[in-house]
Amino acid sequence: MDSEKRLEYLSRVIRERGNRLTPQRLAILRALVDNDGHPSAEDIHKEILRDFPTTSLATVYKTITLLKDIGEILELGFGDDGSRFDGRKPYPHPHLICTQCGQILDSEVDNLDKLIDSLAFPNQFSVKTHRFDIFGLCSDCAQK
Ligand code: ZN
Ligand code: MN
Repeated sequence: MDSEKRLEYLSRVIRERGNRLTPQRLAILRALVDNDGHPSAEDIHKEILRDFPTTSLATVYKTITLLKDIGEILELGFGDDGSRFDGRKPYPHPHLICTQCGQILDSEVDNLDKLIDSLAFPNQFSVKTHRFDIFGLCSDCAQK
């Protein structure tokens, strides 16, 4: 889904739920769907301040919480290092995480569901969700 379509979709879902869509909130949604770098709430806040200098970090968190409530954002929590968010692909998918620069990349694989089934099935485990993080160095950091 391209970011414009995704933004339209999220705006519609939020309105249909009876939540107000203020210009600030719309800007936060836009920043989330435009960013494929898995931003933190602070990253989004910094970006929003350019156009809406009075926006608080709490407002950013409120919008993220709203998206979490409707299952439209994926949160990647890293304990004390905080959380990063994917507002483009809210469903579980593998990530490549650079431990040097903190960059997080999406990576796709065809038969992930099959792999998960084959891990769970022998243990009669019923899968609700999954998280697949691969830690290492991105190509830029590996060259340094
Ligand atoms: Zn890196
Ligand atoms: Mn992602």
